[in-house]
Amino acid sequence: MSVTGSCPPPRPGAWQTAAACVGLPPGVVFSKKVKEAAPALRACAGCPVRRKCEEAVAPADNWFDGVCGGRLWRRGRPVEIPAHFLPVVQGRPRGGSVV
Ligand code: SF4
Repeated sequence: MSVTGSCPPPRPGAWQTAAACVGLPPGVVFSKKVKEAAPALRACAGCPVRRKCEEAVAPADNWFDGVCGGRLWRRGRPVEIPAHFLPVVQGRPRGGSVV
């Protein structure tokens, strides 16, 4: 995943090619709204590059809007996600900040 409009498209072999959100519309991945971002949040739950995503995007440092590293961000701050929007892993919601 890249920061909105500021990064070049990923090169083949780059970590982004392993992202579980590949193929989701930008309007989902970069949504500021929980309901619209829910498919991306679900993808994050099984994403093998979650840590790399958050390191690369550095959402808190970049006033990022959208989904990164399993959380929804608005202006670089994590958004609290109602539990019913989060994927359930072993009986507990996974990812995001639960309200
Ligand atoms: S952690 Fe989420 S937003 Fe980041 S690459 Fe993986 S699926 Fe996409």
